[in-house]
Amino acid sequence: MAGLAAGYELDRAGYDVNLLEAQSRPGGRVFTQRDPFADGLYAEMGAEYVDAKDEYVHQLPKAFARKLSDRILYRRPVRRIAHDASGAEVWFEENGELRSLRAPHLVVTIPFSVLRHLEIAPAFSPAKMKVIRELAYGQVMKMAMQYGKRFWDEPGSIGQRVFTDTKLRRVYHMSVDQPGPRGILMSFTSGSDAADLGTRSHEDRLRAALADTARIWPEAPRHWEGAAVKYWNEDPWVRASYSFLGVGQAADFLAIAKCAEGRVHFAGEHTAMGGMDGAIASGLRAPEKIKKAGGL
Ligand SMILES: Cc1cc2nc3c(=O)[nH]c(=O)nc-3n(C[C@H](O)[C@H](O)[C@H](O)COP(=O)(O)OP(=O)(O)OC[C@H]3O[C@@H](n4cnc5c(N)ncnc54)[C@H](O)[C@@H]3O)c2cc1C
Repeated sequence: MAGLAAGYELDRAGYDVNLLEAQSRPGGRVFTQRDPFADGLYAEMGAEYVDAKDEYVHQLPKAFARKLSDRILYRRPVRRIAHDASGAEVWFEENGELRSLRAPHLVVTIPFSVLRHLEIAPAFSPAKMKVIRELAYGQVMKMAMQYGKRFWDEPGSIGQRVFTDTKLRRVYHMSVDQPGPRGILMSFTSGSDAADLGTRSHEDRLRAALADTARIWPEAPRHWEGAAVKYWNEDPWVRASYSFLGVGQAADFLAIAKCAEGRVHFAGEHTAMGGMDGAIASGLRAPEKIKKAGGL
């Protein structure tokens, strides 16, 4: 979201913008999954909630991407960032070859959990490198389970949103605004439970999901039809869920995270400590600095 917001704002201001995106889709941690669900059902495997503006924000990645369509270079994973007083050169893969683009300004919105594995030449200031290397990130796994019947809505059910002490932690009805009779129950698990499930095979994760759901709703196995799993910490383009200030990472971590290094600017949820809204706000902030620097 941060990269799209920054690109949108710079494009609107008349800058010649190129967005390098490792994946073949926009949105990053805003990710709607439709496969393998039946009947057109879908599940949000990343971000979901943004108060009353929910629907509006969920349309944003696509809206930004449509607007910027010819400016986004998909399947271009960045491998190296070089910078000097006059700008930056970014090295990325394109069809298996390494090539580069040079620009007078660069906005880096790659999560620090990924950026810490890239080559940066020369290294940024020691304070910035420390924050890139050490900023704390959490663990999250989402499991979207399709059932043939919405048994959680039946009379006598414990309900459609439960907080459990099982490995699934939070379990709730995801397809609440989608037509039945099938439905999707979502488990949102985090911390050590996500880490533990993360060590298991896909089949074992599904077995655990069904076994724990059956402890909550004993009729679950009769209606089970399959599930999709997204463990964000194994996604090579995030390697984490989202950032937080860990022990000893006081407020200066955030100030340093968002601080520019010469002509290299930074945006992303890790520079805002917010969700989607923080990511977007940070993406809109970066162009302001470029405009003030008077750089084209
Ligand atoms: C499970 C989950 C649930 C969440 N729920 C909510 C919620 O309900 N509400 C909310 O507001 N927020 C929520 N969030 C947080 C929200 O999704 C993020 O804060 C926000 O989407 C982050 O946006 P971003 O642009 O900073 O990063 P990202 O969305 O991660 O974007 C980074 C982009 O950089 C690309 N990239 C990474 N490495 C490279 C590379 N080397 N080269 C090129 N491209 C690269 C990625 O492919 C990605 O497109 C949730 C997050 C998760 C994981």
